[in-house]
Amino acid sequence: MSTYRMFVGGVQVTAVSDGNLFLEKSFYPEISGDRWAEYSSQVQPDGRVLMNLGSFVLHSAGRNILVDTGIGPTPGRFMADCGRLPGEMRDGGVPPEDIDIVLLTHLHGDHVGWNIVGEGDDRRLGFPKARYLAPKIDWEDSLAMSNSTAGPPEDEAARMRRVDAFVQKVLPLETFGCLDLYEGMHSVTPEITTLPSPGHTPGHMCVMIESQGKKAIIIADAAHLPHEVHETDWVCRGDRDGAATIATREKLLDDAERSGALVLAGHFPAPGVGRLDRTNGRRYWQAL
Ligand SMILES: [Zn+2]
Repeated sequence: MSTYRMFVGGVQVTAVSDGNLFLEKSFYPEISGDRWAEYSSQVQPDGRVLMNLGSFVLHSAGRNILVDTGIGPTPGRFMADCGRLPGEMRDGGVPPEDIDIVLLTHLHGDHVGWNIVGEGDDRRLGFPKARYLAPKIDWEDSLAMSNSTAGPPEDEAARMRRVDAFVQKVLPLETFGCLDLYEGMHSVTPEITTLPSPGHTPGHMCVMIESQGKKAIIIADAAHLPHEVHETDWVCRGDRDGAATIATREKLLDDAERSGALVLAGHFPAPGVGRLDRTNGRRYWQAL
């Protein structure tokens, strides 16, 4: 169990995880083998790269806000060792039943998995009393993708997985009557604001926490592994728009480094909490 708790001003942050995703190096199709040499410690003996499936529970203004919901209860889905999120939330004192708001940064399958649980007639909300907030741009994009055979320029299997995750785990939220679409810099509470950060997906959002003079940012999939804080051009298969991904990543990380904000990175090794520091002109990830 990797539950980890801290405060950003008056906002309590609990880091939880749904497990790990195992990726091939080809996750970064444009990155040659020699560029991996420096990062061999991140590669398992079997050649795979392990990626945390981190979520964060924020307690602000009397509300429990869960940012992203992992891959879900089916181990093996997307080659992941997953299914731990509800247990970790209970261990951390923030059980699924106590979540008031589920805030989705984007609608990929590794961020929406516990939205809905059960099958067929037994299908129900994973967070029964929550309102679910989904980025409007990604909702519209996913809806268009699910209604069309002509997808964006990515391989068909990946497109189908995207559509499947959306249809199974996001679309039903509308029928349950608990879905709110948000856009732009949306104020979730006076201390928590969304930040548009397009690239990985067109509507991708980061989440800013500002309280009592302290700052943190949940970067979601603006970066996937720690060395991307200086290797900002490592574009992965899941990044829809490579150029926008790089531009967004550089701006976000420059801002976080300059302001000294705490960085919460759900895909970095658990708990994914750290700061950006600089040595010999190179920015690096300093995990807490
Ligand atoms: Zn992700």
